[in-house]
Amino acid sequence: MNITHFFTYIQVLHGDEPISIQISSTLVQIDNWNFLIDTGFVDQSDVVYLLNKLGVSAHGIHYILNTHIHPDHVGGNQHFPQAEIYLSEKDYVFQRDYMNAITKAEHAPLCNVVKTFYPQFNENQLELYARLSAQMAAHWKNDLVGNLEQTHYIEEDWPFDFIDVVETPGHSIQHYSFRVNTPGKPFLVAGDALPTKTSFRQNKLDFPYCHDAGLYLESQKKIGEFQGIIVPGHDKPFDTETGEYLEEYDAGGVEDSKGHHEDLI
Ligand SMILES: [Zn+2]
Repeated sequence: MNITHFFTYIQVLHGDEPISIQISSTLVQIDNWNFLIDTGFVDQSDVVYLLNKLGVSAHGIHYILNTHIHPDHVGGNQHFPQAEIYLSEKDYVFQRDYMNAITKAEHAPLCNVVKTFYPQFNENQLELYARLSAQMAAHWKNDLVGNLEQTHYIEEDWPFDFIDVVETPGHSIQHYSFRVNTPGKPFLVAGDALPTKTSFRQNKLDFPYCHDAGLYLESQKKIGEFQGIIVPGHDKPFDTETGEYLEEYDAGGVEDSKGHHEDLI
């Protein structure tokens, strides 16, 4: 079994400052099967370019697993029309309905729309969510994750016995992490249940866009108990024993792929 991590990037404006955000993808190769966990941002083909550099064509990806349905994690699914795609139905349906409600709001105050989905949010959370959700909705379409024929819902169908699905909700309504059981140390591809190594075993909210803070912290606790190699959603793989990054699994990204601009933040 071979596991390779790499980043794709989006450029975002943080205030007036352009910053580059790295997004994890993980290639798992076993026998002659290629699995890709998360596919990067919408409307950029860097994921295919980087796979090609690793010797894998887009048609050579047999399975895609998505940790959650945000546009920086499912955005590249469209490049793999021959792959079978596994994702959470609950996460997809919530995100679809929410994104469509935001899009249809037009001139209605967005905070009111957010409130129908998140009645527990306070004013600050509503404003933050309204702003970030509007930016996300600009990239949403209902078939963003792939077409119906290639989509499988993890809740109904999970045929891979060497990969365990780990429920890690909170960042989104039904976020999944994937535990890949290797002959050596197991890998946990954590998605945004652990965005970066900095959050590991810290027990604090580190991410502004959070569906349910309580569930998110519970999931972080669960991840904190894992022993092996963790791949965060926006950071390099690291060993839980030493806390060190593991460069040998990391194919990095490419500098010339960092030209994609998004006005996201
Ligand atoms: Zn993310």
